[in-house]
Amino acid sequence: MEQRRQLVVDDRLFEWMRDIRRTIHQQPELSFQEHDTSLYIQKKLKELSIPFVSGWGGTGVVGTLGGGECGGGADHHVGLRADMDALPVKELNHIDYASKNPGVMHACGHDGHVAMLLGAAALLSKINPCGRISLIFQPAEEYGNGAHKIIEEGALDDSLQAVFAGHIDTHYDTGTITVDEGIICSFADPFRITLKGSSGHAARPHETRDAIVAGCYLVTALQTIVSRETDPNRAGVVSVGCFNGGSGHNIIGDTAVLEGTVRSSHPQVRSDILDGINRVMDSIGKLFRVDAKLDFLPGLPAVINSKTATDVARAAAVAVVGHEGVISQGQPSLGAEDFSFYQQIADGCMVRFGASPGAEASPAHCGTFNFDEKVLAVGASWLATVALRWLGEYGEHSP
Ligand SMILES: [Zn+2]
Ligand SMILES: [Zn+2]
Repeated sequence: MEQRRQLVVDDRLFEWMRDIRRTIHQQPELSFQEHDTSLYIQKKLKELSIPFVSGWGGTGVVGTLGGGECGGGADHHVGLRADMDALPVKELNHIDYASKNPGVMHACGHDGHVAMLLGAAALLSKINPCGRISLIFQPAEEYGNGAHKIIEEGALDDSLQAVFAGHIDTHYDTGTITVDEGIICSFADPFRITLKGSSGHAARPHETRDAIVAGCYLVTALQTIVSRETDPNRAGVVSVGCFNGGSGHNIIGDTAVLEGTVRSSHPQVRSDILDGINRVMDSIGKLFRVDAKLDFLPGLPAVINSKTATDVARAAAVAVVGHEGVISQGQPSLGAEDFSFYQQIADGCMVRFGASPGAEASPAHCGTFNFDEKVLAVGASWLATVALRWLGEYGEHSP
């Protein structure tokens, strides 16, 4: 019970975390450019006397805790993950810790994630736990699949058994944690379609093969894949977010390039949509006599929380916010998360930390996004608790 008491965030630790969060908020950096953020994290880990290795994916930092005296479980190894990148969003909040980097903002709460993980590190460093805890500060969650990159580089060795993380979420009240087994974030499959015809004078279309007209039909036809070909009880989205083609008002364009993304929360829906895109694209190409080529860009697997990890995550959440604070997010989100890459190499569970600032809440990725900073205490306690639970420190769970 002594250890459990130490996992509670006191006022001093809360203020330390809030200061970290606000400092990082003022110096937001884009994916793979988190150089100052990385140095700041390293400085804080040094303050806590926690050893680390930096440079994973350029800016990533992995700290290590553990090695304490224990009976069994010395070989247990758990990871806690925080992302640390910001977004190309102009901050519109009138706060004294607003972004000082024009056009860049922590509009997804990753500044809070870093503060929470450092707070958890502070709690755990007093305990010297049995087993090993990797504190993963990863770059580029928003653009670039930073998780994939640091794993490829070998930041996490084969002994890793499980990884846990939480995302700040202003849809839910502070003091709640969503815990769900199974899919919580969708598959994301970005794609590019290139249509190639032949150009000519706008007044003599019969001498050309118009890629723009073909592209316009294609964008519309792609929308029928979800509405007519997939099970309406299972979520899926096809969005074309970018359409480029043509060079002048009196020239028929010979090329159109469409870029979009497919989101799906079920493997069958995913394969139905991907098959459908291929077939619709080929048909439109034939219809308008243009060559059509489909490329899939690096995507993201779905975040699928395993039963074992979810059970531990739930027990930790109950310990931190009580039974009444543990809720479900309901349907899987069609947002994507590169946390899924950790789940390819280990057990894993990602949760959401409720952090609604009240009536004025703005959505993530918006220039007026902000969150209730009290969530920092909830997040730090949960991260520290879930790590110790996985390691079996309390003896209540032995994975
Ligand atoms: Zn985001
Ligand atoms: Zn995020």
